Amino acid sequence: MQVGIIGLPKVGKTTLFNTLTASQQSTDRYHVSKVVNVAVASVPDPRLERLRDHYSPKKFTPATVTYVDIPGIQKGGDAESLDLARLREVDALAHVVRAFDDPEILHPEGSVDPARDVEIVDLELILADLEIVSRRIERLDRAVKRGLSTDEQRERALLTEVILPTLEAERPLRTLELVDADERRLRGFQLLSAKPLLLVVNVGEDQLTADIGASILGEGRAGDRYPEIVTVSAPIEEEISHLDAEHQVEFLADLGLAEPSLDRVIRASFRLLGLISFFTVGEDEVRAWTLRHGTLARQAGGAIHSDIERGFIRAE
Ligand code: GDP
Repeated sequence: MQVGIIGLPKVGKTTLFNTLTASQQSTDRYHVSKVVNVAVASVPDPRLERLRDHYSPKKFTPATVTYVDIPGIQKGGDAESLDLARLREVDALAHVVRAFDDPEILHPEGSVDPARDVEIVDLELILADLEIVSRRIERLDRAVKRGLSTDEQRERALLTEVILPTLEAERPLRTLELVDADERRLRGFQLLSAKPLLLVVNVGEDQLTADIGASILGEGRAGDRYPEIVTVSAPIEEEISHLDAEHQVEFLADLGLAEPSLDRVIRASFRLLGLISFFTVGEDEVRAWTLRHGTLARQAGGAIHSDIERGFIRAE
C-alpha cells in the first residue's frame, strides 16, 4: 500500500517522512525539494511484538506502508509543480498542513491558516481532476455521432451528471458514495480528489498535548471531507525517534502522550484504506499479512498461498 505525502511547501512533509521511514532527506529551511522520496514504514502493532517476544523467530515481518514524499503543491500550480503521474499511483494521500508558528519559516501565503490551506490543496486536486474529466467528456461527446456503447453511455452519464457537478462545486470526489460499478468506471482515471485522505495537522510543540487537529479546521469542517485527522509535531516526533525505547516512554509521558503520533499516522493510514492484519507465528517467522477489512477467512488463507485457500478446512 502506498501513501503519498502532500501539502504546501515548508509545512513539515519531509521532516515527517524522515521520521515515519527513518530516512534522512534534507529539510533545509531554504531548500525547496523537487525530488520524490520513497521509503517503507513498518506498521507498529503491540500484538505482533508480543508474539515475536514469545516465539523468538528467525524472521520478523510486520505489515508495511510505503510513503512517497511529493514536492510541495503550489497555489494555482501548473502540472509541473506537482508530480501528478507519481501522485496518481498512490492508494491514499496524507495531507500535511501547517499549524505551527515560526517567524523564521516563511509561509508561501504569508500567514499561518490551516483552514485556508486545506482548501488550497483540495482545490489543486480538484482542478487536476477537472481537467481529466472534462477532456474525457469532450471525447465522449465527439463520439456520440458514431454511437456510444451501453458502457460508454453509462460512463458519460456518470461523468456529466455526478462527477463534473461535484468538482465544479469544489467538492472532493472522496465525499461521494458511489456504487461499485461506478467506482470501477472511475478507477482507471486515478482521480486525485477521489483518493482517501488523511489530514496531518503539524502543530507547535506547545500545542501538542491536546488533539486539536479538528478544532483548528473550524466547526463542522472535519466530517466527510476529513474523516481521519491526526495531530503531530514533526520536530518532536523526530526527536522521539532518536531515543531508545525506555527514554521514549518517559519523554512521551512528559508530553502527556500515550504513544508517538507517528504510530497513529501509520495506523490511521491503514484504517483509511480499510486494511486489517492477521498473523502467522512459529519459530521460523512471525509475520503480519495485510487484507481488506471484510475478507473471509478462506480468502485470507489465499494471501499466504493459493493452496491454503483451496484446501481450506475450518476456521474457529
Ligand atoms: P516540506 O517542504 O513540507 O517538506 O517541509 P520540511 O519538512 O522540509 O520543513 C521545512 C522547515 O520547517 C524545516 O526547517 C523544518 O525543520 C521546519 N519545521 C517542520 N515542522 C516544524 C514544526 O512543527 N515547528 C517548527 N518550528 N518548525 C518546523
